[in-house]
Amino acid sequence: MELEKLNLKGVEDKRPLVIAGPCSAETEDQVMDTAKQLAKNGIKVFRAGVWKPRTKPGGFEGNGVAALPWLQQVKKETGMLVATEVATAKHVEEALKYGVDLLWIGARTTADPFAVQEIADTLKGVDMPILVKNPVNPDLELWIGALQRINNAGIKRLGAIHRGFSTYDKKLYRNLPQWHIPIELHRRIPELPIICDPSHISGRRDLISPLCQQAMDLQFDGLIIESHCDPDHAWSDASQQLTPDVLSLILNNLVIREMNQTTENLSELRKQIDEIDMELTEMLAKRMRVAREIGIYKKEHEMAILQTQRYDEIINKRVEAGSAMEMDGEFMKVVFEAIHAESVRQQMKIMEG
Ligand code: PEP
Ligand code: MN
Repeated sequence: MELEKLNLKGVEDKRPLVIAGPCSAETEDQVMDTAKQLAKNGIKVFRAGVWKPRTKPGGFEGNGVAALPWLQQVKKETGMLVATEVATAKHVEEALKYGVDLLWIGARTTADPFAVQEIADTLKGVDMPILVKNPVNPDLELWIGALQRINNAGIKRLGAIHRGFSTYDKKLYRNLPQWHIPIELHRRIPELPIICDPSHISGRRDLISPLCQQAMDLQFDGLIIESHCDPDHAWSDASQQLTPDVLSLILNNLVIREMNQTTENLSELRKQIDEIDMELTEMLAKRMRVAREIGIYKKEHEMAILQTQRYDEIINKRVEAGSAMEMDGEFMKVVFEAIHAESVRQQMKIMEG
């Protein structure tokens, strides 16, 4: 994939890139009030849903085109960049007409290759940053496919948003994080920025702070967080939105650990583990050589391979020794049963041979 940095005007290129704003643009006052508070707190990119894909009819489906001038007003009065979700070619055209700076494709849309292709076709010849949310279902290939469609249309300033995955069995989170999926996306496309959406993962404002920290510790590039001037009265996703001030508190408390330092230390430790594993393997091979010699002895003296008493003694003594060295007894048992089983297999070969 041919990619470039997101290169957002007026936004410092450092972790985390923060995008914040209400789930939906409800009224001009709500948009302006929220935007001004966020800008005052140093937020540089404002989000607001103009077209809202709702799971069921009857929910607030957004103000549509009528809300776009409010975003223009946000740009004008605060200097923030503005971002919104698009699901159709028409949405893209309208957003471009009103100077929206950044577009994202929602989770429901990413799951539909026809819709993504339609958006991609409309973006041909346009140079703007596009973010692609993961599809609602945990399908990495579908996510990558959507990114490729947009990239094939010539969009190089591309990023991904991890917003978790739908599950029938709702537990702690609204959408399961399944971190291994964005981590695998990063392994496959290392230069693609990945932004975490803790609001839609959690569905609950009290879980947002730890999720932000986790995303930073997993080296995500940014955060997209829902923030509303009056969260409890939000027309959509009320339970997961934060006031701009609470959002600031969370962001100020984040610990940003840089990767170089930790990976250097980590790779040193991993080298040690590799060496120890090699020593363990050589020791095991040595043990098997001795076991085979015992096998030859048993064969010559017509003894049975399995000497139950000896077996019990080995396991008990190893469990005891391991426990004295702070290893779980059950773990020691499993390890030595496996080692013994391999010794028996090797002795059987000698008996048969
Ligand atoms: C949103 O960002 O408001 C939204 C609808 O999110 P998602 O597509 O992740 O459900
Ligand atoms: Mn939302």
